[in-house]
Amino acid sequence: MEIIIAKNSGLCYGVKRALRIAKETRNTKTGKVFTLGDLVHNPQIIDDLKRNDISPVEKLEELMEGTIIIRSHGISPEIYNQLTQKKMGVVDATCPIVKKIQRLVESLTKSKNEIIIVGNKEHPEIKGLIGYSQGKAIIIENELQAKNLPQKKKRAVLAQSTQDLFLFEKAVLALLERTKELRVFNTICKSTQTRQKSTSELASRVDSLIIIGGKNSSNTNKLYEISKRILPRTYFIESSEQITPEMLEGAQKIGLSGGASTPPEAIQEAVHIIKTRFMHKFKGRNEFNVRVN
Ligand code: SF4
Repeated sequence: MEIIIAKNSGLCYGVKRALRIAKETRNTKTGKVFTLGDLVHNPQIIDDLKRNDISPVEKLEELMEGTIIIRSHGISPEIYNQLTQKKMGVVDATCPIVKKIQRLVESLTKSKNEIIIVGNKEHPEIKGLIGYSQGKAIIIENELQAKNLPQKKKRAVLAQSTQDLFLFEKAVLALLERTKELRVFNTICKSTQTRQKSTSELASRVDSLIIIGGKNSSNTNKLYEISKRILPRTYFIESSEQITPEMLEGAQKIGLSGGASTPPEAIQEAVHIIKTRFMHKFKGRNEFNVRVN
């Protein structure tokens, strides 16, 4: 049996940076340290941050004192202003790539473009971007919603940084049919694109593929959808405790991958569990290789 770990799986640059900033903030500030929402969409990392006295809060009203960290997804200018009016320290850990998208949306809004964003309207990054468009951006999730938009002379389209490239391209094609002059900005970040490519390549070469990550992580959900399109035996788990014999049954090659918020330890733990808990169940498969590809 072979276990192959997808290249580029695990924490992305923006998440690593936000975690580093959070730890530095905890080490240098006295008083309470909060994050506005979960810093990362991963339950194990959130528990670890709580143990280090860094707690998530969901509502601004809950904040009275201490320091608040803005997570990598960023926030709208309106929420930023509300934060600065509180008597608290504000530390901005917005990913620089998301900042760039925010500036793009701001400038497109100033030049009076109709802005379409292909993304999830409930995701914090998108809520922030809607704020930078002064509430004017139209959010679509797929090609079908693009097809339902009216004909228009001019539009600009961009994507949530963790969008599935295949879905974005389909939405852009649909928009081209109903827009005379369409400006297309592929704002899917490089880290997301390389991760999606590695996982889809792996899905075409293994018998079973397990994606590890938080169920509320947008980019991990996208990885799951991408892999499932290629390999029906794709499974989505939050922790290696959820691995079952059915996921491994009959598979000679097992793939493992994780989203931008999945720590490397979670993938190593999955390897360990497959080895110690399941290998003996499969006759003649007492030896196995682990590699990254
Ligand atoms: S997925 Fe990309 S844009 Fe989002 S935080 Fe990570 S590096 Fe930044």
